[in-house]
Amino acid sequence: MRLATLLALAAITLPYSAAEAAQDPYSYAEPDKVRVRHAELDLALDFPARVIAGTVTLDLDWRDARASALNLDTRDLAIERVEALDEAGHARALSYTLAAPDPELGSRLGIAAPGRPARVRIAYRTAPTASGLQWLDRQQTADKQAPFLFSQSQSIHARSWIPLQDTPAVRFSYAARVRAAQGITVLMSALRQPVQGDVQRFDQPQPIPSYLMAIAAGALAEQATSKRAAVWAEPSQVAAAAREFGDIEAMMRTTEQLYGPYRWGRYDMLVLPPSFPFGGMENPEMTFLTPTVIAGDKSLVSVVAHELAHSWSGNLVTSATWRDIWLNEGFTTYVENRIVEAVYGKTQADEEFVVAAGELKHKMPSLSENQQRLAPVPREVGADDALTDVAYVKGAWFLRFLEARFGRVVFDAYLRDYFDHFAFQSITTEQMLDYLRANLVDRHPGKVDWDQVEQWVYAPGLPESATLPAVPAFTAIDTARAAFLHGTLGAAALPGGDWNTHEWLYFLDHLPEAPTLVQVQALDAAWSLSRSSNAEIGMRWLPRAVRAGDHEVWPAARAYMLRIGRMKLTLPVYRAFAGSAQGLAYAEAAYAAHKAEYHPLTQRAIEKVLREAHAQPVADAAR
Ligand SMILES: [Zn+2]
Repeated sequence: MRLATLLALAAITLPYSAAEAAQDPYSYAEPDKVRVRHAELDLALDFPARVIAGTVTLDLDWRDARASALNLDTRDLAIERVEALDEAGHARALSYTLAAPDPELGSRLGIAAPGRPARVRIAYRTAPTASGLQWLDRQQTADKQAPFLFSQSQSIHARSWIPLQDTPAVRFSYAARVRAAQGITVLMSALRQPVQGDVQRFDQPQPIPSYLMAIAAGALAEQATSKRAAVWAEPSQVAAAAREFGDIEAMMRTTEQLYGPYRWGRYDMLVLPPSFPFGGMENPEMTFLTPTVIAGDKSLVSVVAHELAHSWSGNLVTSATWRDIWLNEGFTTYVENRIVEAVYGKTQADEEFVVAAGELKHKMPSLSENQQRLAPVPREVGADDALTDVAYVKGAWFLRFLEARFGRVVFDAYLRDYFDHFAFQSITTEQMLDYLRANLVDRHPGKVDWDQVEQWVYAPGLPESATLPAVPAFTAIDTARAAFLHGTLGAAALPGGDWNTHEWLYFLDHLPEAPTLVQVQALDAAWSLSRSSNAEIGMRWLPRAVRAGDHEVWPAARAYMLRIGRMKLTLPVYRAFAGSAQGLAYAEAAYAAHKAEYHPLTQRAIEKVLREAHAQPVADAAR
C-alpha cells in the first residue's frame, strides 16, 4: 500500500537527479576539487573613494590530486596580484585570468595553481558600485556625524567585495584586520578582538558559508542588553534599540532549551540606517537589523527572534544551494514562531503565523508552479529570487504539520537531534529528507505517509493537510470588517482601539486591494492610518489608499517610500503608484530625486516595478 503510493508519486519527486540538485549553478567554484578552509583578510576602508582595498589569503584543501587550477567568484573586482605562499611565507606569483563578466554570476577568476599550493593570496580592490556594499554619506545617516558602510552578501554578493568560492556549499573560518579613519567603528560577522593602533581585528573561528561574510562601519555606539548580547547603533538610536530588543536574553534561553546550546559566543545586533534592504540579516555574532522594526512597543520584534533562530537553522545547518534555501528560512520561520510563543504567548504566535499564512495564500497565485515548490527545479530559479514567502512560510507550515502529527515532545527532540547531527554542515533538501525519513517518519509509523512529505516538499501550491490555528480575535475582526464594508458599521464604531498590531495587520490584509474612496477616507479619519509610525501598518494601508484614488495620502506615501529602503515595505507603495499614469509619474519623480539613497538591490527592484508599469497599458488612468 505504501509502496504503491510512493511509486505513484515518483513523477513529482524526480524531475532532476540528486546529483543535479547538489550542484550550485550560481558559482564558478569547484568544491569537489578544492575547498577554501580559512580566509585571512587585510583590508583598508576608503570612504571618499568608496573602495575596500587589500588582500585575502585563502587556506586550501585540495581534494583532487589532478587539479591544477583554483576558480573563484568575483564581481566588479580589480585584481592586482595573485601569489602562492609557502610554509615560510615566501610568495611566488601565480598567473590568472579574469573572465568577461556574466550579468548574473560576475567574473570567474581562474588561477593557475600548479603543485596545488596550500595558501593563495590575492590583492584586490572593490568597485564603488559593488553590489554587496552600500556607502552612505554622513547626511544619509541618522546622526549625520560620519559616513557609513554596510555589506549585504546574501545571496551571491560576497563576491563583489571578496574573491572567494561564493557558494553556501563551502564553509570556512576567517580572521580580519581592517583599517579605517579615526572615529569609525568597524563591525564584522565575527568576534571583535582588541584594537591594535589603527587596526580593528576580528576572528570567526567557526566555519561559515560565504553569504555570512559581513562588514559595517560608521560612528557607532554599543549598549549591552545582557552578558553575551548587545545592541550597536548610531549614538542617537542606541537607547531606543536596546529597549526594543531587551528580551534577547530570554529569547536565547528559550531557544537553547528547545534546540541545544548557542554555539557562537556573543549575540550582538547592529541597527542599520533605513536604506538597509531587508528586515534583518543573520550575520553570525552581529545580526544586521532594519530600523523599521523599532516600533516602540516591541510589536515587530519577531524579526529579532527570526535572526536569532538562524543561529541554529541556517548558520549552524545551512542549505547547500540557493534552491534549498527553504531549509534555512522555513526552519527559521518555524523556530521564530516557537520563540515568540515562549516569550510573548501563544495568542501572539498564532496571530503572527496566520497573518503570514494569509500573505502567502494571497501571493501564491502570482508565482510560477516552480516557485510554489519548497524545493524548486534547480536552475529554474534565480539566486536572489529563491527568497520568497514559499521558502519562509510554506516551509514553516510544513514543520507545523510534522509537529501536529508527531506531537510536540517527539518533534522537538527530533529537531534538536537534527541540528546536532548536521551542525556546521551545508546540506541539500534530499539529505534533510533522508534524515527525516530514518529518524522521524519510519521511527513513528502510522503518523505521516511519505507521499504527504513529498507533496509538501516537491509539489506546487499548498497541500490539503495545511491547516491553521483558530484565532478567536480574528474571527471577530472578520465580522467587524464585513459589517464595515457592507456599510452597516461606521469606521469610528470599529473596535480598533482594542486591537493589537497583529490584529490591525489582519484587519488591513483582508480589506479589498482597492477599497472605495469613501471607505478609505472614513477609515483614515477615524484611525489616522496614514500617520501610523508602524511600518507594517503603512505597508498595508498606504497602497490601498493610493489605489482607492485618495490623493491626500500621496505626500505621506511618498515620505514613507523615501524613508524606507526595506524592499518588502517600500515596493508595495511603488507598485500602487505604478497602477495609474499620474501615480507612476509621481513615483518616478520621487525616485529620480532620491535614487542615490537606496541600496543597489532596492534600486534594482524599484526600477523593475517602474519598467514593468511602462510596459503594461494602464487600465485606471482616470484615477
Ligand atoms: Zn531568514
